Amino acid sequence: MAKATGPERFEHLYINGEWVKPIDGALVDSIDPATGRPWALVAFAGKQDVDRAVEAARAAFRGPWRRMPAHERAAMLRRFAEAFREAIPEIIEHEVRDSGRLIVDARADLGAEVAWYHWFASLADKTLGTTVPMDDSVHCFTTRVPVGVVAAITPWNAPLMTICLKLGAALAAGCTLVVKPAETTPVSTLLLGRIAERAGLPPGVLNIVPGHGHEIGDHLVGHPGVDKVSFTGSGATAKRMLKTGADSLKRFTFELGGKAPHIIFADADLEQALNSATSSAWTNCGQSCALGSRVLVERPVYDRVAEMFRQRAATVRVGMPMDEATRMGPQNSQQQLDKTLSYFEIGRAEGAELLAGGRRIDRPDLAGGYFVEPTVYAGVTNQMRIAREEIFGPVAALIPFDGEEEAIEIANDTPFGLTAGLWTNDLGRAHRVSNRIEAGSVWVNTYRYVRWSLPYGGFKQSGWGRENGIDALDPYLETRTTVISTTGQAANPYA
Ligand code: NAD
Repeated sequence: MAKATGPERFEHLYINGEWVKPIDGALVDSIDPATGRPWALVAFAGKQDVDRAVEAARAAFRGPWRRMPAHERAAMLRRFAEAFREAIPEIIEHEVRDSGRLIVDARADLGAEVAWYHWFASLADKTLGTTVPMDDSVHCFTTRVPVGVVAAITPWNAPLMTICLKLGAALAAGCTLVVKPAETTPVSTLLLGRIAERAGLPPGVLNIVPGHGHEIGDHLVGHPGVDKVSFTGSGATAKRMLKTGADSLKRFTFELGGKAPHIIFADADLEQALNSATSSAWTNCGQSCALGSRVLVERPVYDRVAEMFRQRAATVRVGMPMDEATRMGPQNSQQQLDKTLSYFEIGRAEGAELLAGGRRIDRPDLAGGYFVEPTVYAGVTNQMRIAREEIFGPVAALIPFDGEEEAIEIANDTPFGLTAGLWTNDLGRAHRVSNRIEAGSVWVNTYRYVRWSLPYGGFKQSGWGRENGIDALDPYLETRTTVISTTGQAANPYA
């Protein structure tokens, strides 16, 4: 008898160390963006499920997790890292089917995440306090204690990477978590529950509840049992969260959008700069917060760079994400596809010169998928919407400039401040310009160099707080100051 085919089923949430069916949730289709068809059916949590998850996280925080010595927590995180490494063959396809990321990119990311989890493990027993010198009558010291239950809410563009940065840091700090992945990419994150089991995490330390942002995401942010929200996503959602979380004065960390300048000076090695500028504008089909989407080019080489960009667009192999040879996959959803297509209209209406792309791809082998062409606009001014707003499509906007001052002025003329790149062979200029760029990461003669040990986060409207680096633990810790009198004498002020 032929095996029944159909969407894979993921009918359970991961709460309190158990796989449970939703009480008031539902089964929802997960769409493969490469085909536009459902590939999985996934349990979405309702509010009661979230309440259960928060309760489990609180109990674990008060109980075994809080009492576990830090070096044992570190050892557990190392086991988690190794269980994650072993699970890569099992989960990588789920990451690709949900998100549309390329298999080659997902393989690189997941491999790196093992190192990320090990890095966080290495920090778990180094949340050191200080002793503070006063006088002989007191002994004063600080201790760093976990903030409590964390709601980790993530987007869809790199699901396992975005949760890795939160999960690793929160567990290392001694917090417990309720994780809510994005609506369109719930599966690979849900499978982290299996890894938690294999690593032996106590029940309730990690809970995973896929679901709708406006419904259970909002419920989590307002929940009195949640102490902190760690969010990666759009600025509009972050602003809503601030209002929802105001009543309970929640702690927030935000990793938000970007519209990064990628500056090419005339003295740069143009071939290298082009390799970097094109891939950073089109990587993950333009669905990255760190995208170098504003390409600022010094006027003497502007026409040459524009022509190189146009030629490079024609060489990009767009195709199915599971194909090893593919270099650009689809947009993640119909909604994101529509958004990108709308910006092609906006670019036209604003009078930008379309050098390449600007259309949905119409190929029989990609029918139904959310594919668009790698796109290049020349003659862009920094006032145009295609230069100011985050598109999240593979769109490079080429903006000319004259000299350092104008480059810096245009680079900083944006509400965002996440990342920036610059290409020059003048060492002095590299220092002068990078020092004045308003962004959390500045890359010189390279781009998108993001690692576990390097703090990452935004200036301005690109975020609050940092992920990665030693700083990554700060948002998950409170500092307690303790003062112990050595005499035990208290004067009676009313004598
Ligand atoms: P989004 O804000 O729409 O959604 C992100 C998450 O928030 C999803 O899980 C969603 O369900 C949830 N959510 C939505 N409304 C909510 C609400 N009212 N309350 C609680 N949760 C809610 O963002 P998106 O479109 O999924 O992601 C794209 C954005 O993420 C872009 O702006 C991108 O730049 C940003 N991003 C930033 C980084 C970074 O590190 N800075 C990394 C990746 C993506």
